[in-house]
Amino acid sequence: QICLEACDLSVRYGGRLAVSGVGLRARRGRILAIVGPSGCGKSTVLACFNRLHDLNPACELRGSIRLDGQEILRPGLDVLALRRRVGLIAQRPNSLPLSIGRNLTFPLRHHGMGRRVDRQDAARRALQRVGLWEEVKDRLGRPASELSGGQQQRLCLARALVLEPEVLLLDEPCSALDPLASAVVEELVASLRGNVTILIVTHNLAQARRLADDVAVFWNRDGVGYLEEQGSADAV
Ligand code: ADP
Ligand code: ADP
Repeated sequence: QICLEACDLSVRYGGRLAVSGVGLRARRGRILAIVGPSGCGKSTVLACFNRLHDLNPACELRGSIRLDGQEILRPGLDVLALRRRVGLIAQRPNSLPLSIGRNLTFPLRHHGMGRRVDRQDAARRALQRVGLWEEVKDRLGRPASELSGGQQQRLCLARALVLEPEVLLLDEPCSALDPLASAVVEELVASLRGNVTILIVTHNLAQARRLADDVAVFWNRDGVGYLEEQGSADAV
């Protein structure tokens, strides 16, 4: 069953074509790896799925993206509601410059969870889900920047999961981590299979093979990124 589908998606930055004619399908509850050399538009395409480009006036999208059959590129869409359903974790561990606890309660408040006890309860469950609760429960008021890179990346995952998204977009979630921390994050991502539809950009083919059900291979021609092929991970 298709959860997320892009058709003939093109992206321009300041008029310059960066990605052209991408058709991509993500099956519900499965892990789709997006691989390819750098500069071929993987991050650009990933970010389209939660309309991150709305923040960049120089960026122009063409084509169609449907979530459960509903067009998400149409004007007037409730983008906040979309971002609740489709979470994005950017490349660097990018915890917010807030306390560990507020990294989780802030998005909940932003999305309208009114009661403090509910926010803190949801925060605890999200931290437990990424295996961080025991490590941080006594220092929820400390700055998130005190955590290691691997812990911060797990905090970012918790921050996305706390909103109970249907889709998670992961942009090279392990590229800034040491091998041990990388393995922990990879295992966590694998543990979400079945519950969340995951799109993961990775330059690590071995990781794509271990994690993914499906793989999309991007390439570029004359500086314009495109989808070279998409298929089952066994075929890559
Ligand atoms: P990848 O993730 O495969 O490395 P990107 O999506 O980051 O590729 O980049 C694809 C192309 O789009 C590149 O040519 C890059 O320079 C360009 N690009 C990406 N982001 C921006 C931006 N914010 N402004 C202008 N050009 C951009
Ligand atoms: P406030 O309304 O004061 O902004 P928040 O809901 O944002 O409250 O609470 C975040 C703060 O509460 C954190 O900085 C942390 O120190 C503290 N806290 C206590 N217990 C928890 C918990 N289970 N989860 C998250 N934060 C907690």
